[in-house]
Amino acid sequence: MRLSRYFLPILRETPKEAEIVSHRLMLRAGMVRQESAGIYAWLPLGLRVLNKVQKIVREEQDRSGAIELLMPTIQSADLWRESGRYEAYGKEMLRIKDRHDREMLFGPTNEEMITEIFRAYVKSYKDLPLNLYHLQWKFRDEVRPRFGTMRSREFLMKDAYSFDLDQAGAVHAYNKMFLAYLRTFDRLGLKSIPMRADTGPIGGDLSHEFIILADTGESQVYCHKDYLEFPVPPADTNFDDVAGVKATVAKWTSLYAATDEMHDEAAYNAIPEASRVSARGIEVGHIFYFGTKYSEPMGANVQGPDGKPVPVHMGSYGIGPSRVVAALIEASHDEAGIRWPEEVAPFKVALLNLKQGDSACDAACGELYQTLTAKGVEVLYDDRDDRPGAKFATADLIGIPYQVMIGPRGLAEGKVEMKVRSTGEREMLSPAAFVSRIT
Ligand code: ATP
Ligand code: MG
Ligand code: MG
Ligand code: MG
Repeated sequence: MRLSRYFLPILRETPKEAEIVSHRLMLRAGMVRQESAGIYAWLPLGLRVLNKVQKIVREEQDRSGAIELLMPTIQSADLWRESGRYEAYGKEMLRIKDRHDREMLFGPTNEEMITEIFRAYVKSYKDLPLNLYHLQWKFRDEVRPRFGTMRSREFLMKDAYSFDLDQAGAVHAYNKMFLAYLRTFDRLGLKSIPMRADTGPIGGDLSHEFIILADTGESQVYCHKDYLEFPVPPADTNFDDVAGVKATVAKWTSLYAATDEMHDEAAYNAIPEASRVSARGIEVGHIFYFGTKYSEPMGANVQGPDGKPVPVHMGSYGIGPSRVVAALIEASHDEAGIRWPEEVAPFKVALLNLKQGDSACDAACGELYQTLTAKGVEVLYDDRDDRPGAKFATADLIGIPYQVMIGPRGLAEGKVEMKVRSTGEREMLSPAAFVSRIT
């Protein structure tokens, strides 16, 4: 992508309304724009990151055996009356009337709708287990939307829903998602800790929140320090190995970890003092097992092995990709700007032409841009007629992992300069050597 033809509205001033660093940087780097309180447009740079986060989330859902579909954002109130949640959900639900005066709502979550889809088609225990997920915009009329996309009113969620014949099956489904979440956050470059959590309006009895430690987190959390070093399940994890999956979850729940609402002071104090972590955390994911809470009232039954109808056991599993983008910045930035982990970076390379209009520089940049693009490397080529200082500042701000700078002095010796954004490490090397370093 040539920056001269891109849409990257960088802000020079620090926006006053932004209280935390990720919000400031997302606005300054031209990633998002607020359209109403808690409602954001995703600008091209932000969308690239959001898409990469979604890609990883998808790959790990698919790996664990979940199947993607897509449900609508607008739901019917009647569906929610069946579960009894239409009244119970309260003011966080955005209620709408259509032209025929039918009551609709903008979905804050999809337990009811997925249960309705399930009951329409699945009739036998032989079709279980089943786990269906989607990535769709949700709306919750948060009392206090703040911190940019961290707590917005419209936000993206990956929500998965599992269906099993009995509790044992449902716990295995829960455990699989537990592992998938560990892998997802690890691939995103985040250290997540599963913590025993309250089930809130979703209901149920088994629940973990996946928490990222960060000073700006809205939850107070307590855990054993060793969790920060626990190994994450590998890519070749066999998700059908019930005992193996259970053993991994057992390890990851063997030490103390709880959010404020579930905190047990006595159990926490039993941890050796040096291993206690009391910190702020960001909830990036949340998994629930809630048995027949929805299947019973909504009549989602299957015929069991003995021919009798049984309500299915369900779980639901959420990740907020739009919140994750902000959490990634909270976890990885410096005074100059964002430092994207490579897997989610909007571009891998920022190519800076330090003397636009100089025929040698233009030619060398054009050639390197071609070579990298042909190899499938995502390059943002700063070909604007601007001072080198401004180009350095932009590249640092938007956090591209590798910068390659081409100027007359280096070129005289056939060299370009590489800078690694995360470490600040610099090196003069030939264009060919740069290409092989990063491909
Ligand atoms: P919170 O405690 O932050 O209000 P929640 O417990 O209400 O979140 P869940 O119902 O568990 O949220 O939804 C699953 C995931 O969706 C959360 O873990 C989070 O990643 C994301 N999420 C929830 N609310 C928001 C929001 N207002 N803005 C952005 N992401 C959100
Ligand atoms: Mg909430
Ligand atoms: Mg919560
Ligand atoms: Mg939650």
